[in-house]
Amino acid sequence: MGRFRIKVYLRLRPSDKPSPFIHIQPTSSTVQIDDDKHAGGGPPKNYTERRLFRFDGIIQSSSQEAVFDECAKGVVEDVLTGYHGTIFAYGQVGSGKTFTMTGETKTFIYCGLIPRCIHRIFEEKESKPAAEIKVHVSYLEIHNEVIYDLLAKREAASQITTLEEDGTVEFRGLTRVLCTTEEQALKLFFEGERHKAVAVHPLNQVSSRSHCMFTLYVERHAGMASIPEKTAAKLNLVDLAGFGQSKGIEFSEQSKKEIVNINKSLIFLEQISSFRFAQFVQELNTNAIINKLLDPTYTRRKYERQISDLKQELALKDALNGRTDIAYDLTDEMKSELRARVNDFLLQDAEVETIPVDNLKQVREIFKLFREAQMTMLAKLEVLQKELRVTVDVPMMKESITPTLEEEVGVGELDNQGFHVGVAPVNARPDSIDGIPSKMNVNIDDVLASTLFDQQMEAPKKVAPNREKKNKAFIYFKHHTSEGNEYENFLKETRFVLRLKRKLAQELCNHINEVKFDIANLNKDLKEFENSHIFENPDVTNVDKKVSTTTRLQVMKAEYRRDFNALNKVKHEILAIQQKAEGCSRLLQVVPLPRTTITN
Ligand code: ADP
Ligand code: MG
Repeated sequence: MGRFRIKVYLRLRPSDKPSPFIHIQPTSSTVQIDDDKHAGGGPPKNYTERRLFRFDGIIQSSSQEAVFDECAKGVVEDVLTGYHGTIFAYGQVGSGKTFTMTGETKTFIYCGLIPRCIHRIFEEKESKPAAEIKVHVSYLEIHNEVIYDLLAKREAASQITTLEEDGTVEFRGLTRVLCTTEEQALKLFFEGERHKAVAVHPLNQVSSRSHCMFTLYVERHAGMASIPEKTAAKLNLVDLAGFGQSKGIEFSEQSKKEIVNINKSLIFLEQISSFRFAQFVQELNTNAIINKLLDPTYTRRKYERQISDLKQELALKDALNGRTDIAYDLTDEMKSELRARVNDFLLQDAEVETIPVDNLKQVREIFKLFREAQMTMLAKLEVLQKELRVTVDVPMMKESITPTLEEEVGVGELDNQGFHVGVAPVNARPDSIDGIPSKMNVNIDDVLASTLFDQQMEAPKKVAPNREKKNKAFIYFKHHTSEGNEYENFLKETRFVLRLKRKLAQELCNHINEVKFDIANLNKDLKEFENSHIFENPDVTNVDKKVSTTTRLQVMKAEYRRDFNALNKVKHEILAIQQKAEGCSRLLQVVPLPRTTITN
């Protein structure tokens, strides 16, 4: 890194009427300006304020070549070494900025800095083929605060945007053209010139009303062939729009707007006093660095060599410390061995010393295993908590589900225990007619939604804050471990099957309720027949009616029994599914660590 001071040169255009207030002293590179305050109606007549400005050089009546040698040559050489460089000209309209930067391009002796910089860079490229110099160029213009790409392949220049990051400005989409020859680069420069927005200024027929920046991007091999480092530097060559006063000069509305914008952007260059800005710039220091572009193949080789050296050093250190056969790369077998040791430590009360701690990779792997174990435990805890919650809140169907004929009629509600089919004790039975209960709202949701399995399936909608962490662990377990995955898939399938079974059970329950309603009515009719003593006063119609009622009652009872058995069968199936799910939960509690490795 090198500290560079920005150099400032004053170039003076030949003038027929030099100002009596400006005194140039080329030998000391100073300019003295007498500021006559009297003209402004300020201090007394004889009072004159003097100001002295110092430059790095004052150029007067010098050739274009001399200007290049003095002001630009060093910058181009630095760019060829890998430093970024910028040369910009600023001053009043007509002061000679474009003459300095571009010059008269028809004859080389009048060529300005841009063609000369191009020439020098290609001269280097041709004289040093081993450096494999690559040159790209771009050309942009800022006119009325809008940026244009002067090399875009269109009739007019195309508008582009900037991207500002970390204090640097990138021109998004700016055309960069690779040039293999000097002629190609010059051609592009002149092509860009034609795209510029040039307006006629009353002071200067060809003065540009915009800021223009021609950039040369130079990439080259640096150093020796054995170290194929590359440098990539750019040289910005800027011709700023001229500022000036509009007093006493006729401008069109468009030109006035341009002047406002030009002066506005130049305000950023401190103040638009030429000399004051020069002084300010001279005080600035830059920290220049060589911009290196590393060859990826070379970089890879370099790192490979470095790794191999470090491995050798490590082996040497191990040998000196009496440590032999230390493997720094963990194989799958070594990982499973480590897993077994961690399991023994966590679950079998093995001594902590049984876990090997030989190197960093091993330690990291152990940490990973501990995290896995913790996540698995949290997931299991979550499952266990859900299970406990269900056991406390909702009664399980623990009783026998195969009813006797007597029990069979006990389809009814148990106090606060939900509805059970064939499980209610006889004395708990509500009023019944011939064994068939009169209250008989068989509710499938009460029967099945209260099972453990269902409770596990339905994730609680609102999660208490203290359970959020465990839920997180459970989700992690389900998605990041193969056991968790299997568990999740099994639950999904089971949930679907359970839904179908529940639907079937619901239909059976509905039908049983209807049949029971019919049976109750038929029993009531029969009782009435008995009370009317039809056999003592035989009446054919009444006898027929009784016979048909009895027959219908038998048919209804048979239907009831059939559906009841079917409902029990479905219950069995649901219980089987439930047991499977419970088995899955139990599995979670006994498997010490998932077989797969959790990746971060
Ligand atoms: P600017 O770009 O600052 O507005 P120009 O570079 O266009 O000004 O210069 C204005 C005029 O003065 C041009 O005709 C140019 O040829 C001429 N000129 C500028 N500097 C010099 C110089 N050092 N020697 C001779 N002619 C010059
Ligand atoms: Mg100009």
